[in-house]
Amino acid sequence: MEISKDHPRYRSLVTREHMGEMVREGIVAPTGLIAHGRGEAFDYLIGERTTTEAQGAERAAVALLMGAKRPVITVNGNAAALAAKGLADLARLTSSKLEVNLFHRSEERVQKVCDYLEEQGGIRVLGRVPDATLPHIASDRAKCTLEGIFSSDVVLIPLEDGDRAMALKKMGKKVIAIDLNPLSRTSLAADIAIVDELTRAVSGMLAFAKELRLDPKERERALASFNNHENLAITLEGICQNLRRRARSV
Ligand code: ATP
Repeated sequence: MEISKDHPRYRSLVTREHMGEMVREGIVAPTGLIAHGRGEAFDYLIGERTTTEAQGAERAAVALLMGAKRPVITVNGNAAALAAKGLADLARLTSSKLEVNLFHRSEERVQKVCDYLEEQGGIRVLGRVPDATLPHIASDRAKCTLEGIFSSDVVLIPLEDGDRAMALKKMGKKVIAIDLNPLSRTSLAADIAIVDELTRAVSGMLAFAKELRLDPKERERALASFNNHENLAITLEGICQNLRRRARSV
């Protein structure tokens, strides 16, 4: 479909077309489109921009990944479809492993998502053959690898469901979420919740990774000055202010 560049929602429409194509290719599950829509709705309320609070969270997240012993980035169909290359670059810059875990899992779909990530990102991906199970999770997202998520100390979970975020916390892992919903169980359970659109968050994190790579003192400062619940409260207050401003102008 031809989308005019002048359209005020050009970027969103192009992304929707891409997500539709990714469903046809079997990378994104049909219900993944619903999750995407919920993300878009929150982004609308936030103002479709990276807030100062999200920047602080992205910086702290990079510092946490860089200081970890066994960092892992877990990828589902939506995350692969939206940011395969960026997530692979982030994995390289932070020495993290990439692992594919799917809620709507079939052998065929796992292979497809792994192939897509490896092709786009030029990096080896874990998850084709799970050999471990996360406790306290009823869905297929419990399936993981011993080499990756099971033995990780820090996990980045873009576009996650609350059950797995909480299960990872119960296992004693540090959890970084990327989720546009500041009210989700995932954002509340995370040590660091980045309330930002995935592709914006990843490009912000790549820039911070380059900045912080050679500066361990600054990484410590970024982590020490971060408080997740305080940051989420300021984010919510920002949404309220946006809404009040809009209410005055309608
Ligand atoms: P929880 O179980 O954590 O309370 P949930 O039921 O909303 O939350 P899901 O629907 O499984 O969980 O997760 C989808 C989440 O991902 C939603 O909160 C949505 O806002 C967010 N999301 C979707 N697309 C994006 C995106 N492109 N960037 C960032 N977040 C996104």
